[in-house]
Amino acid sequence: MNDDSKKNENCGIEFSEEIALPTRLGIFKAFSVKDDQGKEHMVVFKGEVRGKSNVLVRIHSECLTAEALGSLRCDCREQLEEALSKIEQSEGVVIYLRQEGRGIGLFNKVQAYYWQDKGLDTVEANRKLGLADDLRGYKIAADILKYLNINSIRLLTNNPEKLKGIKEYGIDVVARISTSVFPNKFNQKYLKVKEEKMDHLFPLS
Ligand SMILES: [Zn+2]
Repeated sequence: MNDDSKKNENCGIEFSEEIALPTRLGIFKAFSVKDDQGKEHMVVFKGEVRGKSNVLVRIHSECLTAEALGSLRCDCREQLEEALSKIEQSEGVVIYLRQEGRGIGLFNKVQAYYWQDKGLDTVEANRKLGLADDLRGYKIAADILKYLNINSIRLLTNNPEKLKGIKEYGIDVVARISTSVFPNKFNQKYLKVKEEKMDHLFPLS
């Protein structure tokens, strides 16, 4: 272990040093986190958020296909960029969790895409592969917020499960702020399933 890294002995989580992260969307600060499963995550933030209340927070799950490759099968990239732009305007935190494909992993996500191309929706495709609809967990996000000494947040999400998930670990969610939805020619079915089968709270349009 690097002597400089900060390990929380109680829960086996390691936090890297803080760095500057200049991006196309603004200049942020960032650090990495290694959870007790050895998974590595990223935290990007702006402002003096430590110890503050009612901090604007986005808990975002990795989507390699959209964010690195520009896939239009979902709207993860636009949602991530919206969150970064929002915290850039004032202050806040984006917790980027490496739980690809709603936690089923990249390989299974591609397998699920195959079944979606055969006519199944996202939920049905996961079931076809013997996987749950959504395997994501939010304990690490709560641990990161506790590390930053943030006890109450305004959460940027349309996902009621995420809202519930983060509250369960003792974080006070004082407000939910809707994320925009970014429809395109290819992701309409994906968005429809989120709304109809996964109870997403879509912003009124
Ligand atoms: Zn995506």
